[in-house]
Amino acid sequence: MIDAHGLHTAMTDGQGTLEAYVLQGKKLGLEAVAFTEHASDQTSYDFELYAQSKARLQELAHPMRVYVAAEVKLAHTDGTLDISPERAALVDFIVGVLHSYPDGNHGYLKNKSLDRDIALKLDYTLSKALIQNPRVDVWGHPVGVFSNFYGPYDADKLRELVVLAARQGRIIELNSAYRYRHVFSSIVETCLEINCLISIGSDAHQPSELGHVVGHLRDYLKNRNV
Ligand SMILES: [Zn+2]
Ligand SMILES: [Zn+2]
Repeated sequence: MIDAHGLHTAMTDGQGTLEAYVLQGKKLGLEAVAFTEHASDQTSYDFELYAQSKARLQELAHPMRVYVAAEVKLAHTDGTLDISPERAALVDFIVGVLHSYPDGNHGYLKNKSLDRDIALKLDYTLSKALIQNPRVDVWGHPVGVFSNFYGPYDADKLRELVVLAARQGRIIELNSAYRYRHVFSSIVETCLEINCLISIGSDAHQPSELGHVVGHLRDYLKNRNV
C-alpha cells in the first residue's frame, strides 16, 4: 500500500499552505504525504512553481516523504486527459479522475442530467477509457461521480473496473471523502482478493483533514477480521 494522501491547498480549492500540510503530516507521524493539486493546461496558479516546490518541502518534511502530483480530469471520451505531456512530466504522478462526463465534443455533460441506466453505462465506458490511458498512475475516487449523483454502483461492474485497472498497472485510490464511501468496501475487498496496490487518499481540503482515511481503513480491517 502507498501511504500517501491526496491534498488540495489554498492554491486551488482547499485551505492552508503546502507547508501547513507538511507540518500536520509530521505531527501525525505519517510516512509520506502526496500533494495532488487539481491541474489542467488552463489552471491559473503557477503550476511550474508548484511542481518545483518538492525539494523545499522535502527538507521541511524529513524524515517524512513528500510527493508532488496532480489530479487531472478526463477530457475526452477517447481517454485523453486535460493536461499537456509537458506539464504532466513535471510531477511525480498523475491521479486520473472523472469530475463530469466528457460529451465527446470537447465539452462536458451536466452532472445529474442523465437517466440512471444511461449514466451507469457511460460512467463504465469512460472509467475504462481513463484507466487505460498510460499517463494515469492512480485512478482517483473510482466511480465517484456516479455514486455522488446517481447512488450505488453496479457491484459486478465496479469489480470488473478495479480488476482491469490493476491489470493495467494502475494504483486504485481509496478515498475517504464521505461521498465516495459507498465504494470503500468493494475496493478494499477486490484489492485484497487480487492483491492490487491501493493509494490512500484523504481528499483533504484543509490540513486538519489529513490522515482521516488511515483511521477508516484501520477500523474497516479490524472489524472485518472479527
Ligand atoms: Zn479539490
Ligand atoms: Zn476530484
